[in-house]
Formats: sequence, C-alpha cells, structure tokens
Amino acid sequence: SLLTGLIFGLFSGVICSYFLCVRMRPGKEILIGMKRGQFYVVYQPVVDAQKLEMQGIEALMRWEHPTAGMIPPDAFIAFAEAQQLIVPLTRHLFALVARDAQELQTVLPPGAKLGINLAPSHLHAPTFKDDIIAFAASLPPHHFKIVFEITERDMLKEKEAMSLFSWLHAQGFEIAIDDFGTGHSALIYLERFTLDYLKIDQGFVNTIGMETVTAPVLDAVLTLARRLNMTTVAEGVETREQAKWLIERGVNFLQGYYFSRPLTLTQLLSWSQSQNSH
Ligand code: C2E
Ligand code: CA
Ligand code: CA
Ligand code: CA
Repeated sequence: SLLTGLIFGLFSGVICSYFLCVRMRPGKEILIGMKRGQFYVVYQPVVDAQKLEMQGIEALMRWEHPTAGMIPPDAFIAFAEAQQLIVPLTRHLFALVARDAQELQTVLPPGAKLGINLAPSHLHAPTFKDDIIAFAASLPPHHFKIVFEITERDMLKEKEAMSLFSWLHAQGFEIAIDDFGTGHSALIYLERFTLDYLKIDQGFVNTIGMETVTAPVLDAVLTLARRLNMTTVAEGVETREQAKWLIERGVNFLQGYYFSRPLTLTQLLSWSQSQNSH
C-alpha cells in the first residue's frame, strides 16, 4: 500500500542517512575537501640550537571544513587511514608543498630540511616509492633535504623497515623518528637502524622545570642519540627556560611556539623577513 511504501521509504531513508553519516561521510568529505581546496599546509620553523636560526621547516596539514570548522590533523589523518584515503591525501599534501616550494626556497638556505610526516599505512602502499620519487622530482632540484618523519609507535616490522629505510637513504632522503618517548618500542629498536633524527616529544619538553624525573630521562635519551649518531630535535618548546635547558644539554634543533607557531606560506615569508631584520 501507499502507507507501507511511505513508511518503508522513510525507514530506508533513515538507514541510508545513518550510513552516510557514520560510514561514508568522513571519506567522502575528505575527497570533497581536496577537490574544493579546503586543505592547506602550514610550515613550522625548526631552529638550530646554536645559531638560533631557522634551518628547516616541518609541513603540517590543515583542514578548514566549511561547516565543521577547523578539523585537527590528528583526527582527519586517522579518518583518512581508516577510509583508505591516506595515499590520495598525502599526494595532495605533496602537490600543495610543491606549489609552495619556489617561494619556500627564498627563505631557506640550500640544504635546508623539509620535514614531511608519513602515515604508517602509506609506507605499506604499493605506490609508496613512486609517490616519494614523484614528490622529490616536483621540488626545485638540490635545494631541500627531505626528512620523512615516522612516529615511534608506527615503526614497521624490522625486516620491512630495514629495506625501506635503506631505500630512502639510497634516494638521498633522511629519516626522523617522531614523537620519541610516547611509544613503547624498545630502545634497542633504534640501535638496529640508521635513523638520522630523533624528535623528542613535547610531552617530555613541557615537563622541564616541573618534574624532577624528566632531566635524567632526557639526559639518557640524549646520550643514546649521540651514541647512535642521531641528531636531536626537541618539539613543543614553548618557553625560554625550556629552550635554555635543552640548549645546555646539547639538543641540536628546537621547534615550538616559543620560536614560531606553524605558519602559512605568506606568514612564513614575513616571519623570516622580521627575523633577518633583527
Ligand atoms: P607532529 O608530527 O608531532 O607535529 C607536531 C605537532 O605539535 C603539530 O600539531 C604542531 O602544531 C604542534 N606544536 C608545535 N609546536 C608546539 C608547541 O610549542 N606547543 C604545542 N602544544 N604544540 C606544538 P598539529 O599540526 O596539530 O599536528 C598533529 C599531528 O598530526 C602531527 O604531530 C602529525 O602526527 C599529524 N600530521 C599533521 N600533518 C600531517 C600530514 O601532513 N601527514 C601526516 N601523516 N600526519 C600529519
Ligand atoms: Ca612530525
Ligand atoms: Ca612529533
Ligand atoms: Ca605528535
């Protein structure tokens, strides 16, 4: 009857929209967002601890959603991973960075580091190596040293990691272990691989001056890094005291709001100008 039809129609409508909301929307929204230019990249300066000059930048993605507003990357990266969209999303980031590269080049010296975060599922993707090579080819030649950042908790199985890391090195890229101190991977893991940078998580950094336990742990981490020939980067440096403390202990590079927040290309260009005029 008409009534049953109506009820059924209504009911299936509810189911459909339920699925749209819960199952399809995040993925679909990401695809739409890429098409409509809702994603953009910000760059956070990484500062040399001795010269206190910008030696590189880390690219961080942003999503300005028309109705939901600013969606944090921790959320949409996880969405993208769950929806098998991390490869297109990372390619999108690559394209955006490539578009900025010519201008980035004007504020960064030759050999400057360009940090790019990689999601674990991308490392396993069949297109991974091609994606990376295409990205490197899209940048001005010989200017940037690309540093791929991989989080400690996302480290791969040993054999896979070994061959992937040596491939990246053979291509001239560098590798950073990100968020060090938050995962539970054994320190022994570090010893097995040749990794270039150790990024000390901001969770460590923001307890400086507050907890007595931080200093010995950080000292141990720095000793280890030195012994393994890794360059250290402290993340989330927010105060002068933290910066001073870290510099005294021999951390190589500093990154955090104390120096600069992540900036759009335009903001970075003027930030760099204001630094140079000091
Ligand atoms: P991350 O790689 O550890 O990036 C550092 C995060 O710390 C950034 O958050 C940055 O804005 C924030 N930060 C920097 N300095 C300070 C500080 O002094 N104080 C505090 N409280 N925070 C600071 P953001 O941009 O929200 O990114 C969060 C995470 O999302 C990143 O952590 C990274 O794991 C992931 N992410 C961001 N962009 C991308 C991307 O393009 N690809 C992938 N795969 N992951 C990304
Ligand atoms: Ca990072
Ligand atoms: Ca980090
Ligand atoms: Ca993080």
